[in-house]
Amino acid sequence: MRCPFCHNPDSRVVDSRETDEGATTRRRRSCPGCGRRFTTVEEAVLAVVKRSGVTEPFNRAKVIAGVRRACQGRPVDEDQLAVLAAQVEDAVRCSGSAEVPSHEVGLAILRPLRDLDEVAYLRFASVYRSFTSAADFEKEIAEMRAKAASVAQMATADLPPPVIPRSAAGPPDPTAPGD
Ligand SMILES: [Zn+2]
Repeated sequence: MRCPFCHNPDSRVVDSRETDEGATTRRRRSCPGCGRRFTTVEEAVLAVVKRSGVTEPFNRAKVIAGVRRACQGRPVDEDQLAVLAAQVEDAVRCSGSAEVPSHEVGLAILRPLRDLDEVAYLRFASVYRSFTSAADFEKEIAEMRAKAASVAQMATADLPPPVIPRSAAGPPDPTAPGD
């Protein structure tokens, strides 16, 4: 890293620490030419590929702006939006790819938004999934109800998971050709 003071092409790292839960690394550097110190911040680039093929850095503020529109008039505050954007970023980073298509960012928004506010979720989903009729809303709402019911069932069920008996597949067939 070039020294910003004397433009010496080399510098020495004297300290390195992770910040923002490991998302960035700050390095304290020392210039062997002029002896001055400066700090660099290193962050893995997460790029979003738009439908046009253009890539841009992932931006939490953009996620928040999009979700905020869907949340107009809903009891959702800025803190909740910030948490949601962080969840979206985590989910997108967990995909393990340095470049994610923008529709995957949209998908990553849907789940936490559904937990946050169902009306905002329906608004967002209606735009994102291009709902064209009331029937689209009805279908989505029916799916939401079914999911909510299955979650409630899982939470209350104390039955052991189903066990498929081995004998159901029948005994191995000795006449079957081997490999
Ligand atoms: Zn220097």
